[in-house]
Amino acid sequence: MTELQRPQPKPGVMDIAAYVPGKSAAPAGVAKVHKLSSNESPLGPSPKAIEAVREVAAKLEFYPDGAATRLREAIAEAHGLNPANILCSNGSDEVLGLLALTYLEPGDEAIFTEHGFLVYRIYTQAASAVPVAVKETDETADVDAILAAVTPKTKIVFLANPNNPTGTYIPFDEVRRLHAGLPRHVLLVLDAAYAEYVRRNDYESGMELVSSSHNVVMTRTFSKIHGLGGARIGWIYAPAEIIDALNRVRGPFNVNAAAIEAGVAAMKDRAHVEAAVAHNDRWLAWVTQEMAALGLRVTPSVGNFVLVHFNEGERHSAAAADEYLTQRGYILRRVTGYGFPNALRMTIGSEEANRGVVAALAEFLKT
Ligand SMILES: *Cc1c(COP(=O)(O)O)cnc(C)c1O
Repeated sequence: MTELQRPQPKPGVMDIAAYVPGKSAAPAGVAKVHKLSSNESPLGPSPKAIEAVREVAAKLEFYPDGAATRLREAIAEAHGLNPANILCSNGSDEVLGLLALTYLEPGDEAIFTEHGFLVYRIYTQAASAVPVAVKETDETADVDAILAAVTPKTKIVFLANPNNPTGTYIPFDEVRRLHAGLPRHVLLVLDAAYAEYVRRNDYESGMELVSSSHNVVMTRTFSKIHGLGGARIGWIYAPAEIIDALNRVRGPFNVNAAAIEAGVAAMKDRAHVEAAVAHNDRWLAWVTQEMAALGLRVTPSVGNFVLVHFNEGERHSAAAADEYLTQRGYILRRVTGYGFPNALRMTIGSEEANRGVVAALAEFLKT
C-alpha cells in the first residue's frame, strides 16, 4: 500500500512529540514504591471525595450534568467568583486544548517559555499553529522576552505561574506588565495549577486580572492540591464571551459524574486543602535545604516539587541518579524533554518518601 491509500493525519500532527507521563513502576522485587514523578498529593484525596465517588458508582447509568453546575457553584463559592464565568473540564489539560482549538488558526503563533509546560506546545501544534518558545532568565519566565516575541500572528500567550517543571514564578506586577504590553486581541492564559501552594506576598493567581480584562483567563486543577489527578477535573475562570465560545467547542459531557461529585466534595473540604498546604510548606523547605546540603543545586520552587540538578559526566548524572533511586523504589521524573537533560523533578512526598530520597541520594553521591 502506498501512503495515499490510507488516511493521513493533517500536516504537522506527526511532528508532535507525544506527552510522556511520569513513570510509576519500579523493578520487580522493590518492596515499596514512592511515586514522586507526577506532582500527586502525598495526602491523597479528601475522604469526603472518596465517599462521594462511592455513592455515584451506583448511579452510573445516568449522564452527568453537561454544564457541571454544582461543581461550578462549589468552585465559585470557595473562590468568591461568579459561576457563569467558570467552565469545568476533563483535567485542565482539556481546557488548555480547547483554548488552542478555539482561538488558533493555522499559521497563528502561540508563545510560551523555554521550560514551559509541554502541553502548550502539543495543543498549539494540534491546532496547526506555530509554537514559539522564548528564553527564560534564571529558569524563570522573562516578560521582556515574551513581549519581544509577539508578532502580528500571535494569538495566545501561555504562562504557567508557577511553572512546571522549574517551580519558579513571576510576581504579579510582572504579570500585569506582560498584560499591559500585549495587544488586546492576544489571549493571555494564566495556568495556575500550583497556585494553592504559593506562599509569597507578591503572588496572585490572576482572578482579579481576569475580572478586569477581556483577554485574560486563568486555569486551575483538582489534580495537585486536591489529590484528584485520577478523576480528571480542571476549570477555567474567564470573561463571559470566552466561556461562551469554549462551551460551543467542548464535548457535551466533558466532565464525568464521578468527577463532578468528587470535585464538589473536595472543594468543600477546606481542612484537607489546608493540611496539604501545611505539609508542602514544611517538606518543600526541608527537601530544598537537604539537597543543598548534599551539594545539589535546586531551582527555588514555590510549588509541590523541586527541580534538582546533577553534575555533568556519567557517574553522578541525572540518568545515573534516576537509575539508582528507581532501584530503591523512588520514582522521580526525568525532564530532558523540558530542556533539562541533567536534572530530575521530585514531587514533595510523604515524610518517609522525602527522607528516603535524601538518604538514597547521599549514598548515591558517595558511589
Ligand atoms: C499538572 C499541571 C496541570 C494540570 O493538569 P490536569 O490536566 O488538570 O491534571 C496544568 N498545568 C501545569 C503546569 C501542570 O503542571
